[in-house]
Amino acid sequence: MRPIELNKRQQHILEIVKDKGPITGEQIAEKLSLTRATLRPDLAILTMAGFLDARPRVGYFYTGKTGAQLLTEKIGKLTVKEYQSIPVVVNESASVYDAICTMFLEDVGTLFVVNGSSCLVGILSRKDLLRASMGKQELEQMPVNIIMTRMPNITTCSADDLLSDVAQILITKQIDGLPVVNKKDGSSNSDMEVTGRITKTSITKAFVDIANNRIV
Ligand code: ADP
Repeated sequence: MRPIELNKRQQHILEIVKDKGPITGEQIAEKLSLTRATLRPDLAILTMAGFLDARPRVGYFYTGKTGAQLLTEKIGKLTVKEYQSIPVVVNESASVYDAICTMFLEDVGTLFVVNGSSCLVGILSRKDLLRASMGKQELEQMPVNIIMTRMPNITTCSADDLLSDVAQILITKQIDGLPVVNKKDGSSNSDMEVTGRITKTSITKAFVDIANNRIV
């Protein structure tokens, strides 16, 4: 993991604040023989990245956190809503054959099954569909609701959940993804609208962002 890379001037500012903080922007500018305006973007970056903290009428001070510590803090704050993708759903009365076609056409590994009120009632994985295809039954006549994993056995998450918590659930439960749900207003616990999909691929995308320093 690469910590945030600072340019020479930002490193210099950090040294000054470490040594003399709390110190005002004006005083830092004076020490570097630069104007306050020239320093403004660097101070903003250092503050946003968490290296410095600014207190009104006091000035800047050093937080004491390393680049690696700050990166770990940021990873721990990533949420589902930043990485979720569009959910692919089928109706509970759809046939296993239709579900297989949808899975191929939409290029996903998990389908969410909904009832007539668009509430989550089940989940279908690749292996669920393969297993059903191994029998001698007519796949066009077999509704998905007889082979799906059904409520209340479905693990869900919400858009505000932490990505690291979802990653832990995927590992513990040995599943590929979770539906992101929204409880329908004024309804019982089981009435959930599917609003997104979070999968091992979403977690991989977050990992690539971290590796490429794209987490701010
Ligand atoms: P695959 O079966 O293709 O390896 P998974 O590992 O995701 O895919 O699924 C394993 C089993 O767990 C399947 O029977 C599937 O219906 C079920 N499953 C998948 N996701 C969930 C979930 N979020 N909650 C409960 N069960 C799930």
